[in-house]
Amino acid sequence: MDFRKQFAVSPGKKLKLAAIDPSQSGGHLSNEAAQPEISKYVTRMAELQALLYANADQSLLVVLQALDAAGKDGVVRHLFSGMNPQGTSVFGFKQPSASEAAHDFLWRAHQRTPAKGEVVVFNRSYYEDVLVVRVHELVPKAVWSKRFDLINDFEKLLTQNGTRILKFFLHISPEEQLERFKQRLDDPARNWKISESDYSERELWPKYTEAYEDALEKTSTAHAPWYVIPANHKWFRNLAASQIIAETMEDMKLKLPPTRVDLEEVRRKYHAAAAAQEKQNGKG
Ligand code: AMP
Ligand code: MG
Repeated sequence: MDFRKQFAVSPGKKLKLAAIDPSQSGGHLSNEAAQPEISKYVTRMAELQALLYANADQSLLVVLQALDAAGKDGVVRHLFSGMNPQGTSVFGFKQPSASEAAHDFLWRAHQRTPAKGEVVVFNRSYYEDVLVVRVHELVPKAVWSKRFDLINDFEKLLTQNGTRILKFFLHISPEEQLERFKQRLDDPARNWKISESDYSERELWPKYTEAYEDALEKTSTAHAPWYVIPANHKWFRNLAASQIIAETMEDMKLKLPPTRVDLEEVRRKYHAAAAAQEKQNGKG
């Protein structure tokens, strides 16, 4: 199944999240059946990341957005752990610090965008500035409503500098969120993930839905597409996201870089060094 086609948000088209079933799983698959496929894509992502790093002429930015407990941390852990830490990083966006808040909203994000050769994952992102900021009325509408165009321009700038941008909205139902909150309560190893605001934010679900629909529909572009990933089933979320990332990286046409040295010349140097070493060993 082509998840890129299936889950991409069409630019300029009205998006209704209610029309997308967060429990769908491509019909035919089970967790067990999906695991080998997920492994295949995760392995391929790691191979392609090695090429990206070796070439250092393009980069990849993956943006993860979702409501609480939808699986942003899970996507990072399951899909990116195969990549070489040298050349890969994850950045989690929290409430802006005083210094960050004193700058424009893209300032802190721009400092973290991938350099050539790098893969960067944003766990939350500058999109919070049209989501949480809008829902909680942290700035007036006159301010946040202008940010969609600014985001599109920012992403165009990154794209023109060789950065591929992929954006995922992990789509869960309120029932699934509540179930995951319960698991966090019941499992001492997960208690630390609970925050007081989880429950107050949950009450704002309709407002968040409206904010997400608006943001996704205004900022899904050919060069920086949004994908709505049905995420009630963690395995399906991992399958869909890993396929989309791996196939996007295939599109980047990554190849081993050309050798920068004269191999014949270096081979001669090697033989000379090996002969000298042998002589040295013979003396000792
Ligand atoms: P978590 O992802 O659970 O670590 O929580 C991070 C928190 O930071 C979330 O409650 C976000 O809504 C909040 N946050 C991230 N970016 C912003 C922002 N630009 N303005 C206000 N709150 C933000
Ligand atoms: Mg949280």
